[in-house]
Amino acid sequence: MRKKIVAGNWKMNTNLQEGVALAEKVNEALKGVTPNCDVVIAVPFTHLASVNAVIDSAKLGLGAENCADKKSGAYTGEVSASMVASTGATYVILGHSERRQYYGETSAILKEKVGLALENNLTPIFCIGEVLEERENGTYFDVVKAQIEEALFELSAEDFGKIILAYEPVWAIGTGKTATDDQAEEMHAFIREILAAKYGEAVAEETSILYGGSCKPSNAAQLFAKPNVDGGLIGGASLEAESFMGIVNAF
Ligand code: PEP
Repeated sequence: MRKKIVAGNWKMNTNLQEGVALAEKVNEALKGVTPNCDVVIAVPFTHLASVNAVIDSAKLGLGAENCADKKSGAYTGEVSASMVASTGATYVILGHSERRQYYGETSAILKEKVGLALENNLTPIFCIGEVLEERENGTYFDVVKAQIEEALFELSAEDFGKIILAYEPVWAIGTGKTATDDQAEEMHAFIREILAAKYGEAVAEETSILYGGSCKPSNAAQLFAKPNVDGGLIGGASLEAESFMGIVNAF
C-alpha cells in the first residue's frame, strides 16, 4: 500500500523563532494521535537544524524546500543535499513551480538535484504541473508527462521507487483556485499510467502522488477521497498549525 502523506511547504515565510514555534505547535498537535497519513514539514534552510531539535521525527518528517544541483565547492550561497541531510532532514522538495519560474530551474538542473538528493538519502518530493495557458490550450497532459520523463526517467526502478510526486497545477498555487477533485484525479490517474508504462504496475501502484494548489481543510477531504490522490503538498494553509492539522485530519 502506498503511503498517504500531507506535507507543508512554508516557502519564504517565518523567521527562525516563528518557524520553531510553528513546528513546536504542529509537533504538539501530533502528540497522542495517530493520523491516517505521514506528516512532513518543509521549512527554510535556516530553520532546519533548530526545527529538527524540537520535533519528534517518528511523527513529523522534516524537509528542505530545495537543494543545490552541485555536490560541493565554489557555489556561493548554495546549500547542498549533503548539508540538508546533515541537519536531520530526510525530505527535499524539488522542481516547485516557483523554482522553475523565478529561478530558471530546468529539467536538466532538476535531474542533477534529484540524483544528489537520493545519494544523500533524502526523499525528493518532486513537483510537476502545468500553467494556466497549458490547461486552457489542452496541452497539460503532455507538459506533465515531459516534466516527469525529462527529470526522472533515467532513474532505475529502485531509485524511482524512492520519489514522491506532487501534482501542482500552477494556476491553483496560492490563488485560492483549487483544481476540482475530478481534475486532480484525472491527472493523477494519467501520471500513474505513465509510471506503469515505464516502470511497471508495481512501481506505479507504490508511488505516492500528492495534490498541491490551494488545498485547505474545507476541500482536502474531497480531494483525498479520490483513489489516485495520496495526500497533499500544502503552502498557505501550512503556516497555521490549526489549518495544517485540519488537512492532516481530513484523512
Ligand atoms: C505550494 O506552493 O506547494 C502550494 C500548494 O501552495 P498553496 O497551498 O498556497 O496553493
